[in-house]
Amino acid sequence: MAKDSGVQGNIIIVGAGITGLAAAEWLRRDGWRTTLIDPVLPGSSEQASFGNAGLLARASVMPVASPSLVRKAPAMLLDPGSPLYLRWSYLPRLLPWLIPFYRNLSPDRIAPISKALSQITFDTNEQHLALAKGTPAERHICSGDFVTLFRNREEYESDTLSIETRKRYGLVPSTLTREELLQRDPNLGPQYGFGTVFEDYKWLSSPGEYVSDLFEAYLGEGGSFRQGRVLDMTPGSRPSVTLEGGEVLSADKIVLTAGVWSSPLAKKLGVKMRLVAERGYHVVLKNPAFTAPQPYMVTDAKVVMTPMQDALRIAGVVEFASIDATPAKAPVNLISKAIARVYPGLEIDETESWMGRRPTTPDSLPVLGEASGAPNILHAYGGQHIGLTIGPKLGRMVAALASGRKPNIDLSDYSVDRF
Ligand SMILES: Cc1cc2nc3c(=O)[nH]c(=O)nc-3n(C[C@H](O)[C@H](O)[C@H](O)COP(=O)(O)OP(=O)(O)OC[C@H]3O[C@@H](n4cnc5c(N)ncnc54)[C@H](O)[C@@H]3O)c2cc1C
Repeated sequence: MAKDSGVQGNIIIVGAGITGLAAAEWLRRDGWRTTLIDPVLPGSSEQASFGNAGLLARASVMPVASPSLVRKAPAMLLDPGSPLYLRWSYLPRLLPWLIPFYRNLSPDRIAPISKALSQITFDTNEQHLALAKGTPAERHICSGDFVTLFRNREEYESDTLSIETRKRYGLVPSTLTREELLQRDPNLGPQYGFGTVFEDYKWLSSPGEYVSDLFEAYLGEGGSFRQGRVLDMTPGSRPSVTLEGGEVLSADKIVLTAGVWSSPLAKKLGVKMRLVAERGYHVVLKNPAFTAPQPYMVTDAKVVMTPMQDALRIAGVVEFASIDATPAKAPVNLISKAIARVYPGLEIDETESWMGRRPTTPDSLPVLGEASGAPNILHAYGGQHIGLTIGPKLGRMVAALASGRKPNIDLSDYSVDRF
């Protein structure tokens, strides 16, 4: 692929979930000749970007690794009714990730991690609009409140660390009594006596269609797509990828945005990468008799319930198991029980379930930039529970870095070499 005058050059983007698609689109807008490569079509159910809760979580500044987990995790792992699962045979392979994860559970890590999270989450609404505006994907962006449900006020107030951390970034929700919750939603079950509410939130009515609409818009503007699996990557002044089947494609630059599958490719480049599949599940109720007035975070089950297109989606749960292990039944049962608690009057008949893989690092921060010793290959992955939220911003920062512009935030926390 030769460099044309009037374009920045050729660039290959490996992986077309929300992160890769956003990177490809911003690179295309920046004048690059872009080729996205993925074995599946964007918007397919194999992607984490398909089945998430659809929440653009502008207030999610707390790391996955929070100090209270040290106390709670052992009991949670032994309790089949808790939203944390581990397949014990997977433990030896999890250890290289678990040890640094454990180190990040210390209270003094919260402030730097939450600062690094806040600078990539705070403008998610604007970032999604900038990406989707004028494309069919825009129709999927819904606006309203985001309510968190607690059993009582004490439960909310006991998490002083989250409250104090969020306060530092001006993220102070209003509170709701049981009566106020019922005024908003008369169907709410008796278990929930207290709530908090953030205004000016956004969510997607169909994350899968959002991604496929963005993809169609990208193709319509001249972006290219190649269906295939990248097996190897070679850095250098003319970096290349090797596809399944042996074909080699070279370009001026390459971007690695393959979600949790980025890890084996990064390791081939000599990068010490620590990324696991934090597996999560969703249950979708098709055409429910009634739905939620806005998204809920349901704290006792650690699930998000989102009103979507002709459906109510409940997503969450953390399961540590190998990336290709078959989906388990217990998380789906746990989610179904949570639905029955939130909406005891809702008949659960036509449902679908799904399992997806959050790409999660031990410090809850994404990876962004080039690795030392592997020039012209940019990395962007590790969005954990907020990968949909930050995907457009990561993609935009990739485009800036590829063109030699430095984004005006401190990027050192996201360094590829930090593990
Ligand atoms: C249950 C659940 C609920 C969630 N809820 C939310 C939420 O409400 N809000 C939020 O912000 N985030 C949420 N997330 C997280 C979010 O979905 C992910 O962090 C995000 O989708 C990751 O996007 P990605 O583009 O990095 O990866 P993916 O969407 O997984 O895309 C990676 C792509 O890379 C491709 N690929 C893999 N290997 C190769 C290869 N060798 N060559 C080429 N391509 C390859 C794959 O086929 C895939 O298409 C949730 C996740 C789960 C599981």
